[in-house]
Amino acid sequence: MGYLDNTPNKPFNMLDATANLTSEEVASIWANVRAKMRSELGEAAYKSWVKPLTLASIDNGQAKMTVPTRFIRDWILSRYGDRLLAFLKEENANIRTMEITIASSMRNSESTSNDLYAPQSENDIDEATLASLDDDNDTSDGTQITSKLDPRFTFENFVVGKPNELAFAAARRVADSETVPFNPLFLYGGVGLGKTHLMHAIAWQVKKKDPSKKVLYISAEKFMYQFIRALRYKTTMAFKEQFRSVDLLMIDDVQFISGKESTQEEFFHTFNALVDQNRQVVISADKSPSDLEGLEERLRSRLGWGLVADIHPTTYELRLGILQSKAEQLNADIPQDVLEFLAHKVSSNIRELEGALNRIVAHASLVGRPVTLENTQEVLQDLLRASDRKVTIEEIQKKVAEHFNIRISDMHSARRSRTVARPRQIAMSLSKQLTQRSLPEIGRKFGGRDHTTVIHAVRKVEELCGKDHSFAEDVNLLRRMLEG
Ligand code: ADP
Ligand code: MG
Repeated sequence: MGYLDNTPNKPFNMLDATANLTSEEVASIWANVRAKMRSELGEAAYKSWVKPLTLASIDNGQAKMTVPTRFIRDWILSRYGDRLLAFLKEENANIRTMEITIASSMRNSESTSNDLYAPQSENDIDEATLASLDDDNDTSDGTQITSKLDPRFTFENFVVGKPNELAFAAARRVADSETVPFNPLFLYGGVGLGKTHLMHAIAWQVKKKDPSKKVLYISAEKFMYQFIRALRYKTTMAFKEQFRSVDLLMIDDVQFISGKESTQEEFFHTFNALVDQNRQVVISADKSPSDLEGLEERLRSRLGWGLVADIHPTTYELRLGILQSKAEQLNADIPQDVLEFLAHKVSSNIRELEGALNRIVAHASLVGRPVTLENTQEVLQDLLRASDRKVTIEEIQKKVAEHFNIRISDMHSARRSRTVARPRQIAMSLSKQLTQRSLPEIGRKFGGRDHTTVIHAVRKVEELCGKDHSFAEDVNLLRRMLEG
């Protein structure tokens, strides 16, 4: 209902919007979601991945599902997670998150009867899924397994700054050395900070120096896929041979094989065989070996034996340097103030920075106008708004909960005692002030509350600030901490 609630004494809408669903309703939601997944994925993939999934309940806006194995769960989450959540939301707008847990009781029972076909491990992936993984980025004609190298990802095009100087120096050393300087070279860092770029650069450089060198660059995901395929077609000897006969092996995004035991096993042996023959191995991941979860201990420790080099988040200077270099490459004439503005505003990762630059260059050439600070702000409006929104509701909830010594879960809970209700109202009011979120969005983040509850909280906090000096100070202090 659209009316605004002005009566402060009316009880808040504490009801979880998804709490009243009957089991029939849950079943019907699930039937519809499954039907949509089936038509999207096709029969074979549906049978392997979606069918073993059960929707157990929906509460507090969270759809809770179970699967028989961890492997299926990881697979679903990494490949179909977005779609699954989107379909769930389509069926019921109050669903905000989902969770897939492993129903351990099913694991050892007769869950693998003919009726319920569920892959138990990497070895069990069906043909349709294998085929869907086979993209044109590969030259996997049965004799050669390597992914294409991006011609732009060279050392020449890599801008060096404080955050990446160690990784860069290590990569150069590996590429230029006649011997193996450290094995493996392990590069790690967040998304879009240049790991893949450095690996490709090593490959180009090694090939340039000596075209006869066998270099194999592949993502860990593709490695797994090739391995499964080899098992399927009983070509594991050829598979092993291929990987073990290279001079330089590079595996990108190795975090992908966490929890995938047979792939790890195979990778471990490949790795050892190469290191024993004194061949160079380069690995990348989003975390350091010691922080990678789901990795077998012996593999984890082995990965840390060589040189571990991290790439830190970018600095302003590095971002500006990268922008200047990219603008030159694009042959685009971009005023210095625009570059500085972008370096200042787009700080998340380099991929986004590049995207922003490409957009303004494309826009300028389309409309036939030079790039100015003004039209940059206009063209990048959506992106800039997103990066302006620095404080998140979650951060606000955390800070406020810490300040008042209550649990974060009380921000979502239905508890109404004043010790938790007041801090919750303060957090709602700060969310309204410090984020761009709408009232209904804020309400949803507080345990699925109604927007009128948020309005009431904002008013209540204002009112108390006017009446109670120390209350006002508390709120101001919190605001300054969150803004700073
Ligand atoms: P990651 O593999 O760490 O996620 P990428 O290597 O794919 O990141 O880098 C993302 C994009 O940013 C690529 O287009 C890459 O060329 C560019 N990039 C990253 N670091 C640099 C750098 N230091 N200099 C120039 N371009 C960079
Ligand atoms: Mg990468």
